[in-house]
Amino acid sequence: MLRRAGPSLRHFLLERKSGAGYSSYSREAKMSRPVQAQRLEGIDKNIWVEFVKLAATYSTVNLGQGFPDFPPPDFLKEAFMRALSEENYMLHQYTRAFGHPLLVKILAQFFGKLLGRDLDPMTNVMVTVGAYQALFCCFQAFVDEGNEVIIIEPFFDCYEPMVKMAGGTPVFVPLRPKPPKDGKLASSADWQLDPAELASKFSKRTKAIVLNSPNNPLGKVFSRGELELIADLCVKHDILCISDEVYEWLVYDGKEHIRIASLQGMWDRTVTIGSAGKTFSATGWKVGWSVGPNRLLQHLRTVHQNSVYHCATVAQEAVAQGFQRELELYGKPESYFVQLPKELQRKRDWLVQSLDAVGMKPIVPEGTYFLVADISEFKSDVPDVPDSDEPYDSRFAKWMIKNKGLAAIPLSAFYCGAHKNNYNHFIRFCFAK
Ligand code: PMP
Repeated sequence: MLRRAGPSLRHFLLERKSGAGYSSYSREAKMSRPVQAQRLEGIDKNIWVEFVKLAATYSTVNLGQGFPDFPPPDFLKEAFMRALSEENYMLHQYTRAFGHPLLVKILAQFFGKLLGRDLDPMTNVMVTVGAYQALFCCFQAFVDEGNEVIIIEPFFDCYEPMVKMAGGTPVFVPLRPKPPKDGKLASSADWQLDPAELASKFSKRTKAIVLNSPNNPLGKVFSRGELELIADLCVKHDILCISDEVYEWLVYDGKEHIRIASLQGMWDRTVTIGSAGKTFSATGWKVGWSVGPNRLLQHLRTVHQNSVYHCATVAQEAVAQGFQRELELYGKPESYFVQLPKELQRKRDWLVQSLDAVGMKPIVPEGTYFLVADISEFKSDVPDVPDSDEPYDSRFAKWMIKNKGLAAIPLSAFYCGAHKNNYNHFIRFCFAK
């Protein structure tokens, strides 16, 4: 019973609401000192907020943000429904913090097979809230004040702020485009690292390099030779590799996705990151994972335990069942990991043809569901404003959304502040639509 000695509870609450008994100073005083932590300074602007809003307001065809507009496969949805409706009501409760036992077990089996080594589900795999959280755990776990982290441009935009939030300094190295062979369309394979330039970025301060293959936004699938170049430098300088492989199944034209953790000397220094969002076309489920040696993953577990602690149990159960199916069908035509890239390659080719036909020069991606196109031919439609701080591609993309109802993302969004104008005549389309 809520009973107070003296005035009634109602009277007490009314008194509080009216402020009686408090000085006007305590009610009106505003905080004058900065409220945000210093580490947030300069990273508060985010292109997605602006472009998602613009696309929602003006576009009729949204090829901007990277998610499929088709449903996940039936077997995955059915697994989710089964998990929800099952007698096993414990699936509505917390499960193991570092990954639902069924999911870590099947991930260890699946990736053990791909990497050619025995993986312990409890120590070599950790489930995260999407690949995003796996990335966040890596930077928090490995990067100290003063550490440098090498990022290959163009890059998935959250790497830079995540490194900075951990107190580190991002060091950028660009993929440089080579002109396509005569009469041929450009390919994402034409964008390459300059080996000497890459080597020059490694120093005593370097703690890690972030690799993203297949790469968002270009769709580049790094070749074995390119991966060996990176691996040799990692081993030589004793550097960690954070390998974001969320698009591992989306590879076209018979090209092979090679896991850098499988190269000589790399297992011990690599965390490989994956996402059920990309793997099973279910980005909203936010189930991701990291795979690596216990000596690295134990520190990811510390961050995970003390931040999000846990991911949705039902979604983990359904993803586990999806992987079980895929393990049984591995390499067979019925496998979703075979069917999805086949279907997406068709969509890629259709978009390549359409863009080529209107005079945008597509860079044919070897992987992912993104395609970058050169917009130089359209300069007369959207003239340059020489003194503007805004990169040309950003103004072009906004013009295209507002005037043509077609949404895409400027490539400059995938470069650091200082380099935004280096490659500012390209836009990125998502073709998982
Ligand atoms: N890495 C890359 C390269 C991505 O493109 C994305 C999503 N766009 C992520 C990580 C994040 O994946 P998730 O949705 O699983 O958090």
